[in-house]
Amino acid sequence: MRASLRVIAVACAGALLHAQATPARARFGTTPDGTAVERFALRNANGVEFNAINYGGIITSLRVPDRRGAMADVVFGFDSMDGYLKKPPYFGAIVGRYGNRIAKGTFSLDGKTYRLATNNGVNHLHGGNVGFDKVVWKAEPIPGKNGIAFSRVSRDGEEGYPGNLTVRVTYELTDRNELIVDYHATTDKATPVNLTQHSYFNLAGGGDILGHEMMINADRYTPVDATLIPTGVVAPVAGTPFDFRKPTAIGARIDQADAQLKIGQGYDHNWVLNRAGSGPQLAARVVEPVSGRTMEVSTTEPGVQFYTGNFLDGTIVGKGGQRYVHRGGFCLETQHYPDSPNHANFPSTILRPGQEYNSRTVFTFGVVR
Ligand code: BGC
Repeated sequence: MRASLRVIAVACAGALLHAQATPARARFGTTPDGTAVERFALRNANGVEFNAINYGGIITSLRVPDRRGAMADVVFGFDSMDGYLKKPPYFGAIVGRYGNRIAKGTFSLDGKTYRLATNNGVNHLHGGNVGFDKVVWKAEPIPGKNGIAFSRVSRDGEEGYPGNLTVRVTYELTDRNELIVDYHATTDKATPVNLTQHSYFNLAGGGDILGHEMMINADRYTPVDATLIPTGVVAPVAGTPFDFRKPTAIGARIDQADAQLKIGQGYDHNWVLNRAGSGPQLAARVVEPVSGRTMEVSTTEPGVQFYTGNFLDGTIVGKGGQRYVHRGGFCLETQHYPDSPNHANFPSTILRPGQEYNSRTVFTFGVVR
C-alpha cells in the first residue's frame, strides 16, 4: 500500500513538474517604456530547445541536432533586448498586419482609399514603422500542449490599417521535431491581413547559406519591379534561376546575370506554391550537406517569400558575438503574395467581420545520413 502510494506521489510530482516546465519562463529585459519582456523556453524529448520572447513574438533561438547528434542554434538572434531594440531586419519576429510590401503604402477597399506608413522607400513593408514585431504581446501557456500562445489587439488605425484586429499566434514543439506555428485573427472592419514568421535560418549554425540545398515546391513565382513590388505577372520558374523544383544549392545561380536577381541582389521573391485542397502542404525542403541537418516547411498559405539575406553586411553582431554576414541566413516566409490588396488576380488577403483568419505553418527538423 505504502509503496503504491509512493508511486502515485512520484507520478503526480512528475506531471506537476512537466506542467510547470511548459513553457519555462524567465525575465529577458525591458522595453524603453519599462515594460517587462519575458522569454519562454520549450524543449522536446529529443533535446530540441526553442526560445521565444513576448516582444514581437520573436523566436530567439532554436537548437536542433546534426547527423551525429551535435546541437547547434539554427536561427539568428540576440542574447538581450539591446540587440532587438536596434531594429534588426525582423530577426525571428511575427510579421503583421501585412507581411511584405504594399505598393506606395496605399490600397482601396470597398470604395475607400487607405494610406499606410511608408517605411521602405516609397512602399509599406512588414506592417509599417511599429509592426507586430516591435510590440509586447500577451503570453500564456497552451493547456495540454508543449507550446506558448502570444496574443494582442492591433487597434483600428494602427499604421493606417482599418479595424480592430484580434490576433493569436501559437508555437508548439512536438516530439517529432516539428515547430507548429498557428495564426488566428478576427476583425471588426474589413482589412488586409497577411501574417508570417521571419526567422533567418542557417542549418550549419554559422557561415553563409550558399551551400544549403533548397527545394521549393513551386512551378511559378511573382517577378517584381525595381522596388520589389510584384508586377502582377505570375511567371513560370522553368528555365530560370528561380527553378528550385529539384534540390539545388542556394548559391549555384544566385549571382547569374538575371534582371530579377539583380533587383533583389539575390533571391527576395514570392514563389506560388503548388497546392491542391486545403491543409498544410509541402512548401520547401532544405538540406545542409555538411552537418546533415534538414528542414521541411509545410503550410496552408499559397506563397512563400524566399529571402537570402542579401541586405545583411556583417555589421550586426548577435548571440555569442556571431556576425551576421552577407547571405548568412535565409528566410522562408509562408504567406499570401506581396501587395495582394493591389492585385485582383492574386488570392485575396481581405478579412471581414464575422470571418476567421486561420493559417498554419510547420517547420520540421531532421537529418540526412
Ligand atoms: C523582404 C526583404 C527585406 C527583409 C527584411 C523580407 O521579407 O522581402 O526585402 O529586406 O524581409 O526586412
